[in-house]
Amino acid sequence: MMRPLDDMQREILDRVPRLGPVEVGWDSAVGAVLGAEVIAPEDLPGFENAAMDGFAVVASDVAHAPIELAVIDDVAAGSLPSTPVVSGTASRIMTGAPIPPGADAIVPVEAVETVGDARIRILEPAAVGDHVRPVGGSVKSGDRVFNPGLRLRAPHVSVLASMGIRPVVRRRPVVAVMSTGDELVPPSTLTLDPGSVRDSNRTLLEGLLVELGVEVRDYGIVGDSAATFEAALDKAAADADAIVTSGGVSMGAYDVVKLSLRERGTVDFWKIAMQPGKPLGFGSVAGRPFFGLPGNPVSVFVSFEQFVRPALLSMMGADRLFRDRIPGVLDDGIDTNPEKAVFARVALSRDRAGTWRARSAGGQSSNVLSALAFADALAVVPVGVGRVEPGGAVELEMIAWPETRTREEALGAR
Ligand code: AMP
Ligand code: MG
Repeated sequence: MMRPLDDMQREILDRVPRLGPVEVGWDSAVGAVLGAEVIAPEDLPGFENAAMDGFAVVASDVAHAPIELAVIDDVAAGSLPSTPVVSGTASRIMTGAPIPPGADAIVPVEAVETVGDARIRILEPAAVGDHVRPVGGSVKSGDRVFNPGLRLRAPHVSVLASMGIRPVVRRRPVVAVMSTGDELVPPSTLTLDPGSVRDSNRTLLEGLLVELGVEVRDYGIVGDSAATFEAALDKAAADADAIVTSGGVSMGAYDVVKLSLRERGTVDFWKIAMQPGKPLGFGSVAGRPFFGLPGNPVSVFVSFEQFVRPALLSMMGADRLFRDRIPGVLDDGIDTNPEKAVFARVALSRDRAGTWRARSAGGQSSNVLSALAFADALAVVPVGVGRVEPGGAVELEMIAWPETRTREEALGAR
């Protein structure tokens, strides 16, 4: 019996812990998840200030233009106005500088001409509040600004910086990675012996983990011997918050992960109704979540995406765990096993009407790593569907949002 994908996802999310909060610097908060709500301790801006370079005026003076005013002061950002503005006068003011007492509008420098020493002519009328940034116009004291569970991007961290609030985030998990398989040799191997394969899964997993913002511990290639695997596993369980392995979980005679861990009884081995990525080991080793991914590179990726990524995001405290899916159209038809959720690797383009069109990114066997590299999305063909006709609708799970406009296009637009 194969186990439904969402059922497995539910069990995993139910069983992985959430890590505790830590205070970090503003420079290391991007990618981490907010661990506590953020309440604004003060108004932002904290003082009324100019939104443009220009002149602070009494609005009633300039209800009609043109009109001449005497310039009585010069207020730079960071300085305090020394003189109140009264009817018939104006203070030169820079963006961000405090509005002088008595002034209630800013006339931009573009709407003013100089008519002599310390005299200006206002060319366009202004009203109360024009180009004045009010106190609390961005955030009001006591506002709930962010909720816990928010994965911080640079603008979020910058809002915290603007309020002087140190980020309190959930600790980032330390994740141990190892590759099983006696056929594996390091990527630096120049000449392969017959039957040997460069270990590409570890590079893939470590890259995905780095993109996710977790801390990676590399346990290397552990072969297919139970002794080597178990020694590395026990060390990883002592050092890391979660363990991810590749290979050795299916039906082979030397599938070391399955053979070793079945004995211990804390990891279960499943067949999931998905393709690629049917075999999966999940459980705990010395209390640490353990993910035994398949060996085929594309299966590693899809299993990581469906199980490990959401689990780690959940450990990090994130409230949003799953990648966005957008509707699209499959250019070439596809035949799939209706008993499995199939994730086809597709490259995308948008047609004139704005529809996302997906075409196969290459071979769809689970060993074809290159097609994964060319893919922008996984086209999801759900259980119960055995064929999508050319032009048929599919959901596209976005695994990359690459930049589009090229340097040549940008330069050509001159
Ligand atoms: P397994 O699940 O261990 O039987 O491995 C399935 C397939 O994936 C075999 O063709 C392995 O050689 C290949 N494979 C396993 N681990 C890796 C790895 N780390 N890098 C590249 N290919 C691998
Ligand atoms: Mg193997």
